[in-house]
Amino acid sequence: MSAVAAKPAALDVARLRADFPVLAQRINGKPLAYLDNGASSQRPHAVIEAERHYASEMHANVHRGVHTLSQRATDAFEAARERVRRFLNARSTREIVFTRGTTESINLVAQSFVRPRARPGDEILITHLEHHANIVPWQMACAATGAMLKVAPIDRRGEVDMEAFRSLLSARTLLVATAHVSNALGTVLPVREIVALAHARGVPVLLDGAQAVPHFALDLQALDCDFYAFSGHKLYGPDGIGVLYGRESLLEAMPPWQGGGDMILAVSFSGPTYNQLPFKFEAGTPHISGAVGLAAAIDYVDGVGLERIAAWEQELLGYATARLGAVDGLTIIGTARDKASLVSFVVEGVHPHDLGTILDQEGIAIRTGHHCAMPAIEFFGVPATARASFAFYNTREEIDRLATAVAAARAMFR
Ligand code: PMP
Repeated sequence: MSAVAAKPAALDVARLRADFPVLAQRINGKPLAYLDNGASSQRPHAVIEAERHYASEMHANVHRGVHTLSQRATDAFEAARERVRRFLNARSTREIVFTRGTTESINLVAQSFVRPRARPGDEILITHLEHHANIVPWQMACAATGAMLKVAPIDRRGEVDMEAFRSLLSARTLLVATAHVSNALGTVLPVREIVALAHARGVPVLLDGAQAVPHFALDLQALDCDFYAFSGHKLYGPDGIGVLYGRESLLEAMPPWQGGGDMILAVSFSGPTYNQLPFKFEAGTPHISGAVGLAAAIDYVDGVGLERIAAWEQELLGYATARLGAVDGLTIIGTARDKASLVSFVVEGVHPHDLGTILDQEGIAIRTGHHCAMPAIEFFGVPATARASFAFYNTREEIDRLATAVAAARAMFR
C-alpha cells in the first residue's frame, strides 16, 4: 500500500455527533462538552435501538428453551459472541467469555488461573501504572496463595522501564498482567515487546484492554497475548457487559469460578459435569441485551473505522496537549511518546475537584481524582489529577472551551 492510500479519510465529526443523543444536551445552560470518555463513552442510536429491538421483540432466556423466542434470544446472544470474536480476530468463539466488564474478566483469571496454580514464592508481574482492577485481584490471589506481586517501575514520562521489566521476569513468574493503555496517564504500553519477553520465558500474558479497545484496531492472533479484557461501556456500548478473551488451551485447563446454571452439562448430588467452553465460565443468566448492544456498538465503531478514529483522536490529543500546555500553571501528568487520546493534568493553586466543579458549570465534563490508579498518581507526587479523555466525536472547539475555562479557574484562585 502506498503512503497516500494508507492515510484514512477524515471523519465527518458533526454528522457523527448527531448519532449520539446525549451530546445534544445543554448542561447548566451550556452545550455539553463530554470529555470523560475514558470513564464511560456515550452510546449511538444504533446501540440504543439494538437493545430496544431485542427487548421488544426477542427477549427470553438463552440456551434453555425450545420455544421460538428463546431460540431467537440464543441466536442473538451467540451472534454477538461471534461479532466480538471477529472484532478481536480471535480463533474461536470458545475463547470469548462474556463478563460484566474488565474488572470481572481480570477477577476470573485471578480466581481460576492464578489461584489453583500459585505456590508460595510464585510471582505475578504487573507495572506501576495499573488500574486498581489490575492490581487488587492479584493482591487477593497472592494473599490466598503466598504468591508475590512484582511491580515494574515507570519513569517521569509515565513509560514502563522495560529494562527493569525484563529483569523482573523470573523463573517464578506465573503471569504477566499489564494495561494495554493507562487510564490515568494515557501511556500506550509496548505490548508486543511485553508479550515477546514473557513468552520467551514461557510466561502467559494478560492485557487489560479497557482503554485500548475504543482507540485502535486489534488483532489478538497477531498480538499473541493469552488473556485480553475489556468493557462494553467504554466502547460506545452498554454497561454491565464485557469480555474476557482467553487462549483456548488455557481456558480449557482452568476450573470454573462460579457455579450455577448454564455452566454445567449435568448435576447430581455426587457432583456436576461442567459445560464446554465458553459456557463453563458463564454461570447464571447472562446480560443478553448487553451482549446484543455490544455487538451493535462494534458494528458502529467498525462502520466509522478504527483507523480513522485513531487518526482524529491523535489530532485531538496533539491539539489538547498544545492548548492545555500553554495554560499558565498547568502541568501535564503523563507525557509518554506513545499516548492514547487523554490528558491528565494539575493546575497550580487549584484542587482538581474544584476544577471539575467549575468546569461542570461550563457544561464541560471531565474526571478528577486518582482514576482508580492511586500508585500511578502518587508516583507523580500529586494526590489527584484532572483528566480530559477524548472520543472521535469530540472537537477542537470543545478543547478550546476546556482550555479557556481552565485558564479562568487558574485566574480565579491566584
Ligand atoms: N482497567 C482500566 C485501564 C480502566 O480504565 C478501567 C475503567 N476505568 C478498568 C480496568 C475497569 O473497568 P470496568 O469498571 O468497566 O470493569
